[in-house]
Order: sequence, then structure tokens, then C-alpha cells
Amino acid sequence: MSNNTANTSSTSEAISKATSTGRKAYRGEVLHFLADPAKVSEEESYQYFEDGLLVINNGLVEALGNAKDLLITLPADVIVTQYDNGLIMPGFIDTHVHYAQSEMVASYGEQLLEWLENYTFPEEKQFADIEHGKRVAEFFLTQLLDAGTTTALVFGTVHKESVEAFFIVAQQKKLRMICGKVLMNQNCPVDLSDTVESGYADSKALIEKWHNTDRLQYAITPRFAPTCSTDQLNKAGELLKEYPSVYLHTHLSENKDEIAWVSELFPDSDGYLDVYDKSSLLGRRSVFAHGVHLHDHECQRLSDTNSAIAFCPTSNLFLGSGCFNLKQAEEFDVNVGLGTDIGAGSSFSMLTTLNEGYKTQQLRGDKLSPYKSLYLATLGGAVALDLEGTIGNFVQGAEADFIVLDYQATPLMDVRIKRCNTLTEKLFVLSMLGDDRHVKATHIMGEKV
Ligand SMILES: [Zn+2]
Repeated sequence: MSNNTANTSSTSEAISKATSTGRKAYRGEVLHFLADPAKVSEEESYQYFEDGLLVINNGLVEALGNAKDLLITLPADVIVTQYDNGLIMPGFIDTHVHYAQSEMVASYGEQLLEWLENYTFPEEKQFADIEHGKRVAEFFLTQLLDAGTTTALVFGTVHKESVEAFFIVAQQKKLRMICGKVLMNQNCPVDLSDTVESGYADSKALIEKWHNTDRLQYAITPRFAPTCSTDQLNKAGELLKEYPSVYLHTHLSENKDEIAWVSELFPDSDGYLDVYDKSSLLGRRSVFAHGVHLHDHECQRLSDTNSAIAFCPTSNLFLGSGCFNLKQAEEFDVNVGLGTDIGAGSSFSMLTTLNEGYKTQQLRGDKLSPYKSLYLATLGGAVALDLEGTIGNFVQGAEADFIVLDYQATPLMDVRIKRCNTLTEKLFVLSMLGDDRHVKATHIMGEKV
């Protein structure tokens, strides 16, 4: 993309002048977001083309517009793929998920702390073996792509090998993925424990090897405050200062027993978020999963530091953690993305996650519009990950990771969509009845996978 960075108004001209090498076009109904529907009017938040054309050059978005306007500007040899009875959208972005927990989804009967003890820790022990990690990473990434998710912020396990395995497989698939080795040195099984020094050294080695290699990025990943000593959290803060472009990924205020435990473990802190704040872990690339039970002053602090929350409704319902207060996050202008939180979440599908997200807001007496839902699953995730302009929508120059949703994949969707009279209704039905079956195609850097 050297000679095609012309602004949108001269896009047609740029297309007709450039050669068609490496260029592809996709025609169909297209939707993407330009802004948070909570911050602008709903109509200003998105662009929708009933008969649209998405033009891609060397894996990047070159143009988006009405097919009839753009087609005439394309050289005759550009292949145009047409998708009927469906919707072309940017790939979904999962802002919180544990790849190592893929095979333990749907583990019965516990809330957070017992669930970790009884199911998660035994599962994660297997990831000392890099071959096991590669096998599960392959399964996990295939599941994500089948569900239309093209980027995720991913927890590894405490083992350096788990992240090595994940990045090897993600690199082969040319994906934009963010992952990190778990830091935990207390309140966990001995054979899943690192030390302040080994956690620092392993993370640093992984950053040096993988951060910004191809489309891969690193996240410093303290599991959560209870499993990290103050020294370990401080060391994570030091590492973040050394590498300011890496991410910080952890859990926050998910469950009431957990919050009570944190206040016992860190009596000098003014609440859960403050534990992380005291170790300098808040910032533009910090993502905190859950935040179900946040105080106003904590939302203010997240907002002031440009930190993000990953809203994980299927997980919050599955573990009985509570219903995230999206309205509060909006009031304080906190960046929010959407997460499946596999394996506490029970589906890889972001559409299923939107369905559960809607219900959590209903239980609070709030409405979650389909525009806000689909924004959270795409551009909202990109904003939460500080990747706006790179992924999450179809602005010129963005990486062309996109999906095609199929209105006819199931009989119920088919009959229900046919009864919709407005775009709003159609998108709502899609977000309520959709799942991985409705993802007809997933494209990575313009290529169908
Ligand atoms: Zn989690």
C-alpha cells in the first residue's frame, strides 16, 4: 500500500490509476461502524450499503461504497465475489478469552473461586507441554474463525511454552492476535506457580521474540490480584514501563467473594482497581476483564487512564457473577469491548455473546440496541485494544479481516429475517438468533480461510 493512500474523496481515481495486481472486490450488503452509538446519533455511528462493494488491495481495505459507483472504476480483470442473502461485516474482536480452557467449557456447578480450583488449574497444568499447547491452539483458532472472530486478546497459562505454542499457530494462520503468559506466584498450586523473577524473565523473553512479529502482539498477563504478590504486580508494572507498546491483560471485580478476598489480601488498597493502579498497571493498552461490580470512582479512574473493560456476558451468567453495568461504563466514558471468556463463557460465538449481553442489560432494566451490540463486537473491541484504524471497521488502509453472515443458514433465521421491515429489526434478529452457523465465510487480510 504505497501508492494507494489517497483520501476517500479521490478513492475512485486512485483505483482507476493503480494496477489491479493484488486487488479483489466483494459485493453484497455491507455494514460497519464509524463511532460508538452511545456518543453520536445511531444513524451517524454506522455505514450501511444495501448493495455495497468492498475493495481490497494487498490485504488492506482500499475502498468501500455503493457497488454501482465503485464497479465502474475497477479495472476489468479485478475479480468481484458476490455474497447474496447475507451481510458483510468486519471480523469480530474477542477482548477476553482463555485458549487453554477450550476443552473445559461447560464445567458444572461452581462459581469463580471454586471453579478455578476444581476445573481450571488442573486443566492448565497440561500446557507445560508445547505440543499439547499447539494442538489446543489449533482447535481454539479454528473455532474462533468458524465463529467469525478474527482477533482476540488471549490468556495463555503460567507456562512460557503455552504462549510459544499459541503464537506459532497464530502466525501460521496470519492472524492478528494478542497473547501473554500468566503471572501467578501465590494462592495457586505449586506446579502452576512462577516467581517474581521467573515471571518477569519469561515475559520479557516472549516480548522480545514475539511482540510485533507479523501481526502478533504481547500482553503482560497477571492472572488476577489474588494470585499475584505485590512484588509480582510491581514487577509487571516495571515491565510495562520498559515496553510501553505491549498490553496489560487481567481480571477485575468479577465476583463478590473475589472482591472481598482482594480487600483482605491488599488491606492498604482503596478497592480492587487500586491494587493494580498502585503497581502502575492502568493505561491505554490495559484491558480488565469483567468489571461487573465497579464503583463510580473506579470507572472514573479507568476512564482517566484510557483503560478498557472486557464485557463477558456469557461468562458472567454462567458463573453467576452478575450483570455488567454498561450504562455506568458509558456515563464515565470507559472503553468497553466484548469477550467470550472461554472457558467460563459457554460459546466461541460473538453473536451468541450478544444475545446473552442483551439479556444481562434487560435484567438491569436497560436496553442494548443492536447497533451498540454490533459496535461492541467490532469497532468497540478495536478501540478497547487501541487498534482503531487497523481492525474493527472498513476505513481505508485497515486490515481486511471480514466475515459474511448468512441470513438463510437456519430455517428460523430465514423466516424471521424475511419479516423484518427495518435495518434495526434485521440487525436485532441477527444478534439474537445468530451463532457460528450463520458465519458463511471468514476472510483474513482479504483471503477466505
Ligand atoms: Zn477470564
